Amino acid sequence: MRFDIITIFPDFFAGPFDFGILKRAHTTGLVQIATHDLRSFTHDRHRTVDDRPFGGGEGMVLKAQPIYEAMKSLNLSPKIGRDKKKETVILLSAQGQPFTQSLAQELSVTERVVILCGRYEGVDERVNELFCDREISIGDYVLSGGELAAAVIVDAVVRLLPGALGNPDSSRFESFGAEEVADRSDSADGPPRSTYGAGGLLDYPHYTRPADFMGVSIPEALSGGNHEAIRRWRRRMALKKTLENRPDLLEKIEITEEDREILAELRGYEE
Ligand code: SAM
Repeated sequence: MRFDIITIFPDFFAGPFDFGILKRAHTTGLVQIATHDLRSFTHDRHRTVDDRPFGGGEGMVLKAQPIYEAMKSLNLSPKIGRDKKKETVILLSAQGQPFTQSLAQELSVTERVVILCGRYEGVDERVNELFCDREISIGDYVLSGGELAAAVIVDAVVRLLPGALGNPDSSRFESFGAEEVADRSDSADGPPRSTYGAGGLLDYPHYTRPADFMGVSIPEALSGGNHEAIRRWRRRMALKKTLENRPDLLEKIEITEEDREILAELRGYEE
């Protein structure tokens, strides 16, 4: 898989891509990440990439011409008829569709992802119309530029590539995992999975040694080695976390009879 990132701050990415899973994926060739300096596609002495907005108002807008030339240098196929499984062009924008785990999954099976990082007031909208397949936001807040958002997307996508994580199950059974509820059946004949959130829930809390830290002990269910007790505790805690922090997610997931009972208990009443 390959990422091409168009930015006015290519050096920004030296940090985020130089550690842990991303660095390993990069150095082993699992992913190629290239940054392209938008200023190299300008032709004036000041290497101007921005200009004042039509209609007036504060701030500056990234010009279309250097972006067009940057895109042209990437030999992309024309937007109309582009095979989005092969290549897709993303405009980062606070006005975009929300970036989610399922979008990360979708991008992780794309051969090439081109990401355009905005700055200032944003990018001339004609760039979006003419070259971009999707406008993506990483959350309901405004960043100073698209670079942090690009790093977030690359990180979330790369860890889903087969071979990126030491244990591939780590990305199957974590928060927002798309894994079916039905796939929670391992406890009968093996140790419980280290992560069990999955099925669209948030992950449950994790603990490691020592069993007692500052007088706070780990939950009893986790210390006895009873796989079924561990499974039930994890499911309960995943439901509790989700109910407390992201109740909206509960509307979207498949709920079992067991989940229904746990949720009724957590809410403090019988359903
Ligand atoms: N005028 C824009 C607005 O009100 O939506 C904000 C522009 S912002 C200061 C500059 C650039 O940062 C944007 O063009 C975009 O590339 C990036 N950006 C800001 N917030 C973002 C977000 N939530 N997700 C993705 N990119 C974002």
